[in-house]
Amino acid sequence: MNIVFISPPLAGKGTQSSRLKNILNIPHISTGSLLRKKAKDTDELAFTLRDLISRGELVDDNLMIEIIKERIALDDCKNGYILDGFPRTINQAELYEKLLIDMNLPLGKVIYLNITYDVAVARINGRLTCETCGAVYNSFNEETKPLKEDTCDACNSTLVKRADDNVETLLDRFTQYNEKTAPLIEYYREKGNIYEFDSSKEPSTVTQKIVELVRGNID
Ligand code: AMP
Repeated sequence: MNIVFISPPLAGKGTQSSRLKNILNIPHISTGSLLRKKAKDTDELAFTLRDLISRGELVDDNLMIEIIKERIALDDCKNGYILDGFPRTINQAELYEKLLIDMNLPLGKVIYLNITYDVAVARINGRLTCETCGAVYNSFNEETKPLKEDTCDACNSTLVKRADDNVETLLDRFTQYNEKTAPLIEYYREKGNIYEFDSSKEPSTVTQKIVELVRGNID
């Protein structure tokens, strides 16, 4: 089963993806996390990526499709994968569709996590990310705070606050989302394979509903 998440920032793509990864035993591919790793290098690309990410701007579609092409060709994706953060533009979705045809792979299910800007603002200062395994925590939420402060429950790495997790950049990220990513909802609606969840609910409630969907108990 392939899964694609579409959502505004802070809606819980990362949280849901890392939970589903364990439940469904398929890899969680976070494009944000892959880009943040590349951005740590010292070359020109890394400099460009740091600049774009820190301003909440989107990275070039052609680079994104190359990253995805390389990643989903790996052996651990043969039983499916979870895309967290891709596609983010109509052009990316079209390039991805062509790639799936070339690789003879199904699109799978597209999951739209819906939250308002106000809920995202309320979450932003508590969010902590594990850049090693992709797990996401929120110190403001009993259900999603790490067991040990600043340490990833899953892999013991030190948790970080992302440079773009601040109220100023959040507004820009939301603007990018509304302009470039939100049109994907209609795009996939027309294809009939998008499923919407209210992500202001507790994460475990949302996970349960997604698992029911993926396992075919709801449609
Ligand atoms: P995320 O971790 O998904 O919130 O992504 C963090 C940042 O990485 C975004 O604000 C963009 O700058 C960049 N990014 C992640 N995924 C994509 C994508 N599919 N296309 C373009 N830029 C992306």
